[in-house]
Amino acid sequence: MASLNSVKAWDEECDVLICGFGCAGATAAIEAYDAEPDAHILLIEKAPPEFVGGNARVSGQSLLISKNAEALKSYHRAMSAANPVPEDLLDDWANRMVNLEPWIQKMAADVGAEYLHGAGWSSRDVVLEFPEFGARAAVAHTATILPVPSGVWLALKANVDKRNIPVWYESPIVDLIQDPDTLEVYGAWVERQGERKAVRAVRGVILTTGGYEADPYLQKNYYGLGNVKPLGTPYNTGDGVRLMQKAGAEMWHLRNQGQSGGIWPGIHDPRQETSYLRNFMLPSFSWIDVNSEGHRFYAETNELQLTHYKMKSNGTWVDVPLHVADPVHMIFDETTRQAGKLVMQIMTWSALVNDPLNGREWSEDNSAEIEAGLLQRADSIAELAAKISLDPAVLAGEVEAYNASCAEGVDRAYGRNAETLQPIDNGPYYAVRITPAIVCTGGGARRDMDGRVYDHHGKVIPRLFEAGELGSFVSDLYQNGSYLTEAMITGRGAARFALALDPSILE
Ligand SMILES: Cc1cc2nc3c(=O)[nH]c(=O)nc-3n(C[C@H](O)[C@H](O)[C@H](O)COP(=O)(O)OP(=O)(O)OC[C@H]3O[C@@H](n4cnc5c(N)ncnc54)[C@H](O)[C@@H]3O)c2cc1C
Repeated sequence: MASLNSVKAWDEECDVLICGFGCAGATAAIEAYDAEPDAHILLIEKAPPEFVGGNARVSGQSLLISKNAEALKSYHRAMSAANPVPEDLLDDWANRMVNLEPWIQKMAADVGAEYLHGAGWSSRDVVLEFPEFGARAAVAHTATILPVPSGVWLALKANVDKRNIPVWYESPIVDLIQDPDTLEVYGAWVERQGERKAVRAVRGVILTTGGYEADPYLQKNYYGLGNVKPLGTPYNTGDGVRLMQKAGAEMWHLRNQGQSGGIWPGIHDPRQETSYLRNFMLPSFSWIDVNSEGHRFYAETNELQLTHYKMKSNGTWVDVPLHVADPVHMIFDETTRQAGKLVMQIMTWSALVNDPLNGREWSEDNSAEIEAGLLQRADSIAELAAKISLDPAVLAGEVEAYNASCAEGVDRAYGRNAETLQPIDNGPYYAVRITPAIVCTGGGARRDMDGRVYDHHGKVIPRLFEAGELGSFVSDLYQNGSYLTEAMITGRGAARFALALDPSILE
């Protein structure tokens, strides 16, 4: 932390400083404005305007809607059994969740956008990730705001714009300014387009800087993964995690049993920092994934997107071991190659931000990516194996065994869905490297639903707040639509709580 001694004069003064313009930051800014339109709210964002929006912008935009607080509580308690969440926090989450929908509907209506039950891009109106833990009673339905893609984010951004809330772009928070004894937060050091500015925040600072998906050091040291890429923004580099540690906060959920959001099959183009997501809606199944030794290692097509890429092993839900089996290759044939884009177009930073800004788009039949050398092609499986440094006999044997399972209609090795047993027999053949790709990292400071942050003695750090994915209360398994709604709930709670503080009295 920096102390008041580091400040010669304040460069800017506001009531509430909100750091990070994703879902939680936008929500906090809107709520603060609506609670007190004359208050001076300042929203700062690390990225330039064309890269704003964080993971919220490129997410699937699914929102969890619940109408039954008791059932939601019990569902979340069961999903968190490996690292239980305090009961009072569960209570608060569930009670706020059952009252959230009208606010989301208002956000949509106020900017002329359509609120919809369902995801907007699939016919499913609800995703029930873990039915055995009570998902059916807990989840009323999934909701979103149109258009697809990015509709929820676009509506929040339009609401911020409409209120003329000042935003400083290219302005990361770099330090909190605190009393070293009481830990009370007075403001922050912000690097505004290269210049350091001391910003006084008389009522409070809310950190909404997202996770550490794009920080290789934290990925290695907190999660133990050296080989993953983010699916979302490259600007989420764990700045909030580091600031919270410096501020004296107690940390939690840095290394959930699974990375909660899961480890998904990505396709990484070396020209980008972030990863594409393999298309889980591809209508062709003549493909398998093989591990570093050329063997299959899981049931690839069992709708794993519906459990955030968790599979059951030894009776427990664990991450699909894409990161363990690395390097993984997807092996497919001409039928799959022609079936459509190999990557999702409705989410990910690569498809929705990088490609349009660079005047690119993944080609419909994947031919441009073959030309570019991202996908390997060969006339036989043995030849393909040689191109990706696998033993030709092993890979050919694996494809042969898989094709035999298709003929039999049963995958005895891994239990892949019978209706997806489509042989790999229409040459030429292709391979693409699968990168373990990360959705979210929920770790951060321990907090409550009003975003109040606790120190190591269980005391609130005065005037410091946190909302959204940074410090998420999700501690293990994750239900679709919870992260965006948690960002809304904690963003709203933190904004209201901070504004209610008397600037002159220590909290
Ligand atoms: C591919 C994908 C699909 C997803 N699908 C869903 C879904 O369907 N439903 C769901 O609920 N969740 C989903 N999620 C998760 C969800 O998007 C995030 O959990 C959510 O966006 C978190 O909101 P946030 O505001 O905390 O962080 P973000 O939305 O990531 O915003 C963080 C912001 O902080 C900025 N920032 C970072 N460091 C600094 C700094 N030092 N100073 C200032 N600003 C900074 C970043 O640039 C960014 O703009 C998905 C995520 C991904 C990647």
